[in-house]
Amino acid sequence: MSRNLKTPAISLKAGRFGEIHKQVTLFTPGEGILRGIAYGAYKGKGKLGGTTEPFTWGLAGLYHDPVKDTYKITDFEVYDQFENIRGNLRKYYCASLWAEILLKSYGGGGSPELFRLTREGLTLLNSVETRNIDGVLIQYLWKALIILGSGPDLSSCANCEGSISGGSWALDLHKAGAICGSCIHEGAIVLEAGARRYLIHTSSLGMSEALKINLQEKAMGELKNALFSLFESILEVPLNTLKSGLL
Ligand SMILES: [Zn+2]
Repeated sequence: MSRNLKTPAISLKAGRFGEIHKQVTLFTPGEGILRGIAYGAYKGKGKLGGTTEPFTWGLAGLYHDPVKDTYKITDFEVYDQFENIRGNLRKYYCASLWAEILLKSYGGGGSPELFRLTREGLTLLNSVETRNIDGVLIQYLWKALIILGSGPDLSSCANCEGSISGGSWALDLHKAGAICGSCIHEGAIVLEAGARRYLIHTSSLGMSEALKINLQEKAMGELKNALFSLFESILEVPLNTLKSGLL
């Protein structure tokens, strides 16, 4: 990699580095998760101060020091700051959960598909009405699981390999897969038949198209919690953002 790099990036996390500098964690397609320092960002009107806050999407100019293996953020051209996400607590926690998942999965090694999904997810989250937040959240989690290669097969049982059709089914966290009605055991997360149909049907749709597909509120809530558990099981760590109880 050359020392100077221009890359699309989404800021996931930012904090102070010393008195006046800022450390920013960026998600980039290709390079994955990068930590860069915006020198002087907190000094006076440091231009990088406002442009690198979490969930900003833009074009980052980076300088890589090959000896120290550190990145300096030299420039950040903002495409969108998603102001409505910052102005709505539930939206903010939703984006924070995605950021936590991206950090803990190393951004899928810099998967361009995951980057595209995140950019699209943030754009949609920014514009949807509050009642549609869960829909965006579920769609993001499900599509991210598939991109990360961990999407459960919804047609055949992870236990007996028989087909799962209609009726009851469940998620088995130990097998990280879906199981049929006959294989449901204690500890499996039983979900409604409609939730399975919803996932199958929306898998081939884009996120905004998928939002037009309805699922009952109760089934939606159960599916959301099941996906949280599945991610925690796959990543093998708790998701701290969920402790807020706001999602
Ligand atoms: Zn089975």
